Amino acid sequence: MGWLGLDDTDTVSDGCTTYTLHCLLESLPDDVEASIPSLVRLWPFAQQRTRGNAAVAVELTTNNEQTLLTFLDEFWNEHLQPLKGGVGDSDHDREQSPTDPGMVWFDEKPDEASFYFDTVQRHVSIEEAPKPTRSWGGQGCIGAIAAVVWPMHSITWEAIAWREQAQWSSKARSVCEQTLAEVAQNDETFMSRDPRTERSLISPRGTCPVLFGVRAKTQADASSAASALSSAALTEPTIGMRVFATNQASDDHLNEVLESTVQSIEVLNRGTTKIRTDHGDWLAFAQSGNVKLLAQALHPGDRIAAFGLEPMPGVIHIEKLSLRHAVPMRVRPTCSECQRTMKSMGTGQGVRCPTCKARHPDAWIEVNRQLETHAWVEPPVDARRHLARPLGWYRNGNPVNPGNG
Ligand SMILES: [Zn+2]
Repeated sequence: MGWLGLDDTDTVSDGCTTYTLHCLLESLPDDVEASIPSLVRLWPFAQQRTRGNAAVAVELTTNNEQTLLTFLDEFWNEHLQPLKGGVGDSDHDREQSPTDPGMVWFDEKPDEASFYFDTVQRHVSIEEAPKPTRSWGGQGCIGAIAAVVWPMHSITWEAIAWREQAQWSSKARSVCEQTLAEVAQNDETFMSRDPRTERSLISPRGTCPVLFGVRAKTQADASSAASALSSAALTEPTIGMRVFATNQASDDHLNEVLESTVQSIEVLNRGTTKIRTDHGDWLAFAQSGNVKLLAQALHPGDRIAAFGLEPMPGVIHIEKLSLRHAVPMRVRPTCSECQRTMKSMGTGQGVRCPTCKARHPDAWIEVNRQLETHAWVEPPVDARRHLARPLGWYRNGNPVNPGNG
């Protein structure tokens, strides 16, 4: 009995850690039983991250651990070791690290949930990780260990189906759109389809074995959605499907809420907005929808709150944003007779209506801005991270665990 973890067996253009685990589980010795595998998303800014930045783990039960370890040795030598150093063809804009696969075996699950939280919230080194009973390979062991120690405190489910090998090099995927529309109608599934564009969110865009991964709040809903999609006539053939327990939509990557006062706003390329605050620069990205729009409506002096990631000290990438207090806006008074905006007559001289010459002693008056305070905004579904928990899942500001096995 023990736990197996696996990570970094994919390059950007081919391979996939979930498929590697599927193949391993399909070829286990007869007397080994596997539990439901886990799929754990890690810190989005990890330096040596894999495409989906996900590691996998599974609990294996056997009366003959030595036979299992011999099998794992052979599997490693035959299938995983050769992947080391691979770099796929890619049109991704980020720099790739060569694949450095890792596999770990723990004969007992270590009680080190804090290491899991470290790996979703910051960069970690292998020296910080709990020591496996056995380990194979390099950097990938970090994610593999994180997947093993994940405490499963907040679970969602993803059913992944893989396509025939002849299709792996193709970016085009055939998944029945009608069935996907029905799957997306089920409130127990999430992030299946973009409600605005009706575009599918279940299939990766690159070349890899995954045909689709459909997410749900329950294991049963993930499984039935994947079965419906796989068996639809307009879906291309699949060679296997598995349901994974995941940390997706857990918000585990986010630390405590940050509050600060706006100093200035700067709109950058494509609408990405930099909010200079008393606590560093907070960035609302171009594709972040309502987050970006709220950021652009802010004024110096506004109090704001955010959840976000800090890829480098003093820079926050906003994932959830809320206006706590809006400073009033200063405007010139309006003439009560003509409704014209009054004009300044010089410092300390008040203002005057340009039409009827009526005067007002105050050069500025304060009006409330038409902005909702204390509501939270988040990016649209197609711009959210796998780890991001939808705002609709929070009640009274408290996370609601949707996972129920
Ligand atoms: Zn007037």
